[in-house]
Amino acid sequence: MPEVVFPIVERFFTLSGEAPTAGQPMYLIRFSGCNLNCSYCDTPNRNEINEQLTFTELADVIAKVEKEYPGAFVLFTGGEPLLNERMEAISQLAAKHSDVLFYVETNGSVFIQDFGKGNLRYVADWKTFSSGEGGSFCKNNIKKLRAGLDCIKIVVDKNDLVYVRLIIDAIKKDNPGLDIYLSPQTGKIDLKDLAAFITENRLDVRLSLQLHKIIWGFDAKGV
Ligand code: SF4
Repeated sequence: MPEVVFPIVERFFTLSGEAPTAGQPMYLIRFSGCNLNCSYCDTPNRNEINEQLTFTELADVIAKVEKEYPGAFVLFTGGEPLLNERMEAISQLAAKHSDVLFYVETNGSVFIQDFGKGNLRYVADWKTFSSGEGGSFCKNNIKKLRAGLDCIKIVVDKNDLVYVRLIIDAIKKDNPGLDIYLSPQTGKIDLKDLAAFITENRLDVRLSLQLHKIIWGFDAKGV
């Protein structure tokens, strides 16, 4: 069988911007291609292919990251990192580098068949209707996501709040221990309103701000 080839937009060391790893050093690897088209997408270069690495070459990159920056985790993002045959290959990469922590940032639309071991973790987005991709979340993943390892992130617009409440109830019913992060859609909800929505409804969720936008600005790329 030919080796999997990963089409890559960009890769670099940076700090994680959000959800469970906010503020932590990481090596970001952005795979090319996405099956969704969100209204607020801040990755206009998601379909660029600036480099193609085989599985072996990508494994070498990860070995160098491990040596150069011990403690940094590896983030696979996109686009959608789980498209095509990448899911199995990502799981194999994580198994091969068992001392490295890996996160996969998925748009939530893909059924996750291979969770791998505890060093491979998933942050699954649940798209609301304001994104233009409402209804895309693969609900079969809710029970499979592992509390304490994986989480769900919901990007919120002020018009989404009733729907978000329903989503949270559905997740907590099927997977009570799973962490949920609410992230404000830039310019579409006042932070104080989102904070009040959480506390007034006694929601068991966490607020996630996009740290990289606070540090580098809203239009910053490649950071
Ligand atoms: S899933 Fe992510 S990369 Fe794809 S269009 Fe939506 S925001 Fe952009």
